[in-house]
Amino acid sequence: MKNLILIAPPGAGKGTQAKMLCKEFNMIHISIGDLLRLEIEKQNDLSNFLKDKMKTGSLVEDTIIFKIIEERLNELDIKEKGFILDGFPRNLNQAIKLDDLSDNEYIVIYLDVSKEVLEKRILGRLTCSNCGNVFNENIESLKPKKTNICDNCNFRLEKRLDDTKETFEDRYNTYIKETQPVLEFYKSKGNLYNVNSLDKDKIFNDIVNILRGNV
Ligand code: ADP
Repeated sequence: MKNLILIAPPGAGKGTQAKMLCKEFNMIHISIGDLLRLEIEKQNDLSNFLKDKMKTGSLVEDTIIFKIIEERLNELDIKEKGFILDGFPRNLNQAIKLDDLSDNEYIVIYLDVSKEVLEKRILGRLTCSNCGNVFNENIESLKPKKTNICDNCNFRLEKRLDDTKETFEDRYNTYIKETQPVLEFYKSKGNLYNVNSLDKDKIFNDIVNILRGNV
């Protein structure tokens, strides 16, 4: 099976879809945001830099991202299974770098969601500090059963540091300026598919159908 790239504005549900798809197809989820958050937990000089940078809503420098992605793509599991890239490439330079890094073939999925919906989702998003499951206090079907407690493992739910109103505006603007040109890049290669829905199961089914048609 080909590998998958998920491109979407912040809050569109890339992470949720990536987790569901990995389960369905036994693929590996590579979330650059999660890899960066792991770096932050190490509490070294780079951690403080990343924390400040991500709080502003702008992209982390390509040199740092390339090091992280290159290391991850060189790990053994990647050679054995297909993978889903969530959060990379996020600008044109990164898309060109990905072509240089490997001759893997990709299917590129774009999740198209309006700014109003994205903002509501971002402001309600809660993530489990233990298992990473994502909930949403602004969306009825995604509310946790107990306030701020994970349905899955009973650990505490947390808000991401960058899920604030101010940072959302900046992240959305960064997305329009930096990431939208990446869509044009893949459109001209002929491997871009638009998925246009708000329902998480419908989005999942649409992506599954695209992938099955391309196996
Ligand atoms: P979201 O897609 O909801 O913004 P992510 O977890 O994917 O969340 O990314 C969070 C932040 O991490 C971004 O706002 C950015 O600062 C940084 N980041 C993630 N991926 C990249 C990337 N490919 N290049 C540069 N910065 C990135």
